Amino acid sequence: MTLGAHKPKSVLVTGGAGFIGANFVEYLLDTDPDIRVITLDALTYAGSMGNLQRAMPEARHRFIEGDISDAAVVRKVFSDEAVDTVVHFAAESHVDRSITGPAAFIQTNVVGTFILLEAARSAWPARKDVRFHHVSTDEVFGSLSETDPPFNETTPYSPNSPYSASKAGSDHLVRAYHHTYGLPITITNCSNNYGPYQHAEKFIPTVIRSALAGKPIPIYGAGLNVRDWLYVKDHCTAIDAVVRRGRTGNTYLVGGRSERRNIDIAREICAMLDEMSPRPAGNYAELLTPVTDRLGHDFRYAIDSRMIESELGWSPLETFDTGIRKTVGWYLANPRHLEGRN
Ligand code: NAD
Repeated sequence: MTLGAHKPKSVLVTGGAGFIGANFVEYLLDTDPDIRVITLDALTYAGSMGNLQRAMPEARHRFIEGDISDAAVVRKVFSDEAVDTVVHFAAESHVDRSITGPAAFIQTNVVGTFILLEAARSAWPARKDVRFHHVSTDEVFGSLSETDPPFNETTPYSPNSPYSASKAGSDHLVRAYHHTYGLPITITNCSNNYGPYQHAEKFIPTVIRSALAGKPIPIYGAGLNVRDWLYVKDHCTAIDAVVRRGRTGNTYLVGGRSERRNIDIAREICAMLDEMSPRPAGNYAELLTPVTDRLGHDFRYAIDSRMIESELGWSPLETFDTGIRKTVGWYLANPRHLEGRN
């Protein structure tokens, strides 16, 4: 087994105005003084310049508003910026929206990824000192029962939603560009992230926002669906490790060893808010309210991340309890992000 050795110099981060991308842009600028970061983002409803407020004043960072499925824009970024590394986050990522409007998911996640791969192939003929890293999700593997073993790198794909099917399609394209053209790619499939800059309509910001407003806190069904949760900065360190040292052509699964039922997460956040920002009367948990479940809602996702742990020495720094405390504290200090007004 030969581990990679890559030193990124000029990194194109697609989707860097979104939740994880913005955290990753900050992470790169904070940890590598020699790096130059170019954020390419179409600023859909999911992206916000407010997420880049720390990165924007930095001379080593450049923001370009543009669509990854616009081949001319993407080709120009590669040539103007001498891109040697792509970290590809840009995607339509909200499962519920993929159920009501799947077309955008095919366009961005499948066609957009194809356009980026083509641009990389044409800009980097036969180069080995470059990397195309694709950020993907554990949702491509489908749903587990309570007793199934966690997903690992050999689990067959079995996507159940238009979102996960479009991400699966993009994973296959990225892998095929390595196999067919020798493009130096890596892929990570990660579990649910949480932390600063997450979009207001996602589960954890919704719990916090509803609680603070004294409104019903919506919980799908009985709240028994299980996800593995990873603090977003730990996802950033995993991606960075794979980009710099991962084996090209390889996929790594990334998880937090923190399986939780949705209802237990909501209760834990309520208990934290009782302590950090008490209600005048009653406990926040009184506001928890079941709502109609999502169509085809996958029951459980879980990750076996032993490959990245043993090969690259990666492990998360936060437990769920420390990460969620930081997250709740961050939203209390940055309430605009809960309203989507950032
Ligand atoms: P997000 O929805 O918060 O951000 C997506 C960003 O991509 C936004 O800034 C949006 O404006 C941009 N974008 C969308 N379409 C675009 C296009 N056509 N061209 C350019 N930019 C475009 O998503 P996120 O939660 O930060 O997820 C980022 C990536 O990580 C996605 O690929 C997602 O599948 C993957 N992922 C997310 C999670 C999670 O828990 N959030 C877990 C595992 C993997």
